[in-house]
Amino acid sequence: MQFAIDGTTKISQTLRYDVVIIGAGLAGLYTALHIGERHSCLILAKDKIDISNSWFAQGGIAAAISSDDAPIFHLEDTLIAGAGLCDKDAVGVLVDEGPTDISRLVSLSVPFDIDEFGDLQITREGGHRKNRIVHAGGDATGRETVKALAHIVAQRGNISFSENTCFYDILKDKNGAVSSIIVKKDDKDFHLIETRHVVIATGGIGQVYRSTTNPSVATGDGLAAAMRAGAEIKNIEFIQFHPTGLWSPVPEDREFLISEAVRGEGGLLKNRDGVRFMEGAHELNELAPRDIVARAVVKELQRSGDDHVFVDITAKSEDFLKKRFPTIYEECLKRGINIAHDWIPVCPVQHYLMGGIATDTNGRTSIPGLYAAGEAANTGVHGANRLASNSMLECLVFGRRAAEDISRALEQPASGEKPVLPHVQTRPKAALDYTALRQRIKDLMSEYGYVMRNAEGLRYAIGEVTEILRQVEAVYDDAVVYLETLNIATVALAILTAALNRPESIGSHYREDTAV
Ligand SMILES: Cc1cc2nc3c(=O)[nH]c(=O)nc-3n(C[C@H](O)[C@H](O)[C@H](O)COP(=O)(O)OP(=O)(O)OC[C@H]3O[C@@H](n4cnc5c(N)ncnc54)[C@H](O)[C@@H]3O)c2cc1C
Repeated sequence: MQFAIDGTTKISQTLRYDVVIIGAGLAGLYTALHIGERHSCLILAKDKIDISNSWFAQGGIAAAISSDDAPIFHLEDTLIAGAGLCDKDAVGVLVDEGPTDISRLVSLSVPFDIDEFGDLQITREGGHRKNRIVHAGGDATGRETVKALAHIVAQRGNISFSENTCFYDILKDKNGAVSSIIVKKDDKDFHLIETRHVVIATGGIGQVYRSTTNPSVATGDGLAAAMRAGAEIKNIEFIQFHPTGLWSPVPEDREFLISEAVRGEGGLLKNRDGVRFMEGAHELNELAPRDIVARAVVKELQRSGDDHVFVDITAKSEDFLKKRFPTIYEECLKRGINIAHDWIPVCPVQHYLMGGIATDTNGRTSIPGLYAAGEAANTGVHGANRLASNSMLECLVFGRRAAEDISRALEQPASGEKPVLPHVQTRPKAALDYTALRQRIKDLMSEYGYVMRNAEGLRYAIGEVTEILRQVEAVYDDAVVYLETLNIATVALAILTAALNRPESIGSHYREDTAV
């Protein structure tokens, strides 16, 4: 399928910008701030600015900035986590340029936490051999960073910002380069935006799963639109499941995360009987890499028949916990859990997509004029497993590089013809039961495309999702919920297929049928 729109879609307005950035998370905002100020730039967000993975990010941003650290150590740790599938050159760019982007955030007034000497507080997370994580607001790094950047974006004369604007499709000229995009404002009016430079910064795909830390907007819209346009997609089977999402009896729209930093501060993983099941499972016990902890939790749940285990941080004082983890402390308290006294119920949840739209180190995709940045992109820095806190750094380094590449391109004389609306087939109008279809996909993904996978389950799920996708593609409905269901089905099928096509277990992708 080439387009989500159909031949009857009415365009109510045509706009023109030098650059359109789809997404107002860290990648989108930071990219926009680096577009030359002579160039008009539009940022789109499907919802409000406070609904994104970036906004909810807790732990921090990794960069080799402490006196005993160096980019080479950061590179080594990243390559180890990536289990041999990282692009070493891209990782080199990430770790070498990362410290400068952190300094830039400081100069842009991001309120990072500082110590009593006025220096940045730098902590450590799983997989890092040095302290290299800067954070803000204790455990509210994402929110504080997005707020600071959004404030500056609002002051830039060349940048416009449009909330509640949903990106649908990419249109190309006869040379195959980006010529325009289709968006829908307030789920009412379709607009055609003429532009030669589009940056997809639409974040993750968590809503493909039943339990995820990602908010409602994470339906993989950028990825699915790029696939429809024919862009190369890479490593999409590599999905990070966070071992400690806050368990709730009924899955919520977005599961609250109990950050790894809680285990970093001494939190212990226990089963109902108080047994530390990570002891002996890995030399780092609770601080083993996320994929190993997630698998250990799943195995423990299979053994016990329970649906959650616990994080016990009660050895720490209430004062310390309130200060170090204000967001986690408050959120748990709202649910009747005082983390200073009670064990926190947790279970693995979908958290992060390592793969995505394939890019080079300047954010260019396989389609001329189409760029990708942040979680939607596969820059090659994560390989088969993301090192904690490298994703926000990736948003910064490669978002800025994409902006610099676009700004350079915009200095050249414009080429290409005026965009024309393509001939799009008309499909029968129908409203499907989107809630039921989405739930079915989420159930299939959470059963067969989850922490442990096998060929039989993957084949079954592929058959089921293919049938759902066939139903959705056969009709047209101009509601955003139709688009999201189409995109969820498209992305789910791509994940399952890639997972089936990789028989070996590596990093976050574990095949129980072939594991030795
Ligand atoms: C709970 C949580 C904690 C995390 N903690 C950390 C951490 O401590 N350190 C770290 O490095 N990483 C962390 N991560 C991962 C990290 O936050 C994300 O990978 C990163 O912020 C992604 O940024 P992004 O800009 O690519 O996407 P996002 O921040 O998700 O932004 C996506 C944007 O795209 C927009 N969008 C989506 N679809 C459309 C559409 N169709 N039309 C228009 N707009 C659209 C959304 O509205 C949103 O504005 C965490 C993630 C979560 C969920």
